[in-house]
Amino acid sequence: ETASAPNFIRNQIRDEIEAGRADKVVTRFPPEPNGFLHVGHAKSICLNFGLAEQFGGDCHLRFDDTNPAKEEQAYIDAIKEDVSWLGFEWAGEVRYASDYFDQLYAWAQHLIREGKAYVDDLSPDEIREYRGTLTEPGRPSPWRDRSAAENLDLLERMRAGEFNEGERVVRAKIDMASPNINLRDPILYRIRHAQHHQTGDKWKIYPSYDFTHGQSDAIEGVTHSICTLEFEDHRPLYEWFLENLPVPARPRQIEFARLNMNYTLTSKRKLKLLVDEGIVDGWDDPRMPTISGMRRRGYTPASIRKFCEMIGVTRADGGLVDIAMLYHAIRADLEDNAPRAMCVLKPLKLVLTNVPEEHEEIYEVPGHPAREDMAVRQVPFTREIFIDRDDFMEEPPKKFFRLAPGKEVRLRNSYVIRCDEVVKDDAGDILELRCSVDFDTLGKNPEGRKVKGVIHWVSAPHAVPMEVRLYDNLFLVEQPDKDKDADFLEHLNPDSLQVCQAMGEPSLVEAAPESRFQFERVGYFCADRHACRDGKLVFNRTVGLKDSWAK
Ligand code: ATP
Ligand code: MG
Ligand code: MG
Repeated sequence: ETASAPNFIRNQIRDEIEAGRADKVVTRFPPEPNGFLHVGHAKSICLNFGLAEQFGGDCHLRFDDTNPAKEEQAYIDAIKEDVSWLGFEWAGEVRYASDYFDQLYAWAQHLIREGKAYVDDLSPDEIREYRGTLTEPGRPSPWRDRSAAENLDLLERMRAGEFNEGERVVRAKIDMASPNINLRDPILYRIRHAQHHQTGDKWKIYPSYDFTHGQSDAIEGVTHSICTLEFEDHRPLYEWFLENLPVPARPRQIEFARLNMNYTLTSKRKLKLLVDEGIVDGWDDPRMPTISGMRRRGYTPASIRKFCEMIGVTRADGGLVDIAMLYHAIRADLEDNAPRAMCVLKPLKLVLTNVPEEHEEIYEVPGHPAREDMAVRQVPFTREIFIDRDDFMEEPPKKFFRLAPGKEVRLRNSYVIRCDEVVKDDAGDILELRCSVDFDTLGKNPEGRKVKGVIHWVSAPHAVPMEVRLYDNLFLVEQPDKDKDADFLEHLNPDSLQVCQAMGEPSLVEAAPESRFQFERVGYFCADRHACRDGKLVFNRTVGLKDSWAK
């Protein structure tokens, strides 16, 4: 067992091992390939793969692919990539619930022969009506007592494609009066005339989630089948199938609280809507809470794993996790590991009038203040430089320690300068500032006065033009989908993306896609893994510098 934050499932497994009740731990992560994985899935991945790592067991990656209408190979590929990128390795080959369709079919026949399942001719609406409600027991279908022979024949004909979708289903015969609605003759098979990404057109009927999941766990020898709390009421059914079928093993279902996070949707269906409506630039838009979106935004696998450790795993619904915690996790990682650079987001030209035209100084600046292993940067200083427009004010308020007419400021790693003149065009817009350098201030304080402000800058002739994308939360409210009857799109943040034409220091010119930096005084940024090509530089702001997460 390796060290990592404890949680109730981990403690339970440790107790089982110590008591000699458990041997090898086998878990699985079972996504349905109907969308990209999001930060909630990361919690489940870290838990399932983490337990396997901690106890020297296995974690399987199994696609829960029982609904061909909504599933796609592209989602399978993306999910595999995301799990690997997070740093986890599934045991053996990727598995598919559809690998077990033949076995599940045989088990449906078995239940029919035992008088524990039947083919029902009721329509989907009638089935819903007959099922009853929480306060009202269900009624048996008129088709409930068909003979096994007739049921077997109908099942075979359903499989052969003789009937239309919705005409018949297969149901388990359990208890129409059960207080648990999941036990009121749950559906085992539906007719679907669809192409399946794995099985093609072999099947005209598809097993339900409930009839598939536990049996797939049993076939694979999964010991702990971990799922979110919505499935707690399904557990008696999960166990009913295992008890009533000749399965090779007896896995156990354990539930935990799903991750919900403020300003964030964790529903694939809703995230898909954002993609389909063109509200975001695909599933991996850096504003998306998908794993691939976070990756493009600049999150590291370590930071996401750290975040999952910080939020912990409980059975009690944890309410809303503060997204500031996620920001904290990535900021802490990048603070230690991202090289520094200077980049001006909104360039304003400065002419240093007492620096000669051809003058060039090169400063050797550490790549990181505490990391001697990082390459030293060569930062050139010249007569013309850029500073950020926000670091200059013509009529500054009292505590403005940046540049203003007649005021002094230090250029980071360089001299103190004074603003002598503001040059404007006919419309009154500022074209450039003319400043002078105090050459007696390199690496030392000026004589007889204090200069408080330090601003970043880049040499104009050496500046590297780049596009910088600043992101904010996609939604303006903490729970955009809180009101089930309202349209969550009404809460979209119209300013979730802001694009700047920035100027960076020369060390950035060779930034590889996905390389991460701290732009000093500005924030943490990552070179976009798609847009950085053919010499073009695009940086995504991962997170700002200021930490608002209160421990
Ligand atoms: P969605 O509602 O987003 O479609 P899902 O549960 O239907 O999610 P699956 O592909 O079935 O998506 O999920 C795979 C695994 O990830 C399941 O075991 C599920 O319990 C887990 N999971 C999904 N969402 C969360 C979440 N928000 N927090 C923790 N685990 C989650
Ligand atoms: Mg699911
Ligand atoms: Mg779902």
